[in-house]
Amino acid sequence: MQRSDLDILIDEKTLHARIAELGAQISRDYAGKDLALVGILKGSFIFLADLARSLTVECTIDFLGLSSYGHSTTSSGVVQITSDLSAPIEGRDVLVVEDIIDTGLTMRYLLENLSTRKPRSLKVVSLLHKPARTKVEVPIDYKGFTIDDHFVIGYGLDYGDRYRNVPYIGHKVR
Ligand code: 5GP
Repeated sequence: MQRSDLDILIDEKTLHARIAELGAQISRDYAGKDLALVGILKGSFIFLADLARSLTVECTIDFLGLSSYGHSTTSSGVVQITSDLSAPIEGRDVLVVEDIIDTGLTMRYLLENLSTRKPRSLKVVSLLHKPARTKVEVPIDYKGFTIDDHFVIGYGLDYGDRYRNVPYIGHKVR
């Protein structure tokens, strides 16, 4: 159901079709590897659930909770781990699952942090990318959609911790 306070930017059908493509590509690339999906909370939980179900390879699933200090709608780049992984990733083929890469500051911190734990490989899948706001370039190995500079919500992404359960990506119109 469409909400009157949101404009739809990416509808459910388009999301699911693209995630199926990403899942097929990741399944090919990780065949025979030891895939460890690491979802970044809270925003990635719905994307991760759909992506994981589109994979045809075995994987483990773990989560890393992060909170970014400062303004609620912009990234300060100062990130705190609020909940750590439940298992070591040393020697594993880690794929970080993120909802959106905006300035890139959060992902830069994460990649630095995770690489000290000695994974065998470390790659990134992000559902969304907002290149207009890039402050630091980070590698995005798998990308769902490139979007313009909108503050988007839904499909896991929040506004004041609400709207995460909206099944499409939208932006607020009022
Ligand atoms: P970055 O550090 O790349 O600037 O931001 C990454 C984090 O900021 C994302 O994981 C997400 O939590 C939040 N963020 C960035 N852009 C948006 C947006 O358009 N909508 C929402 N809801 N969160 C965003």
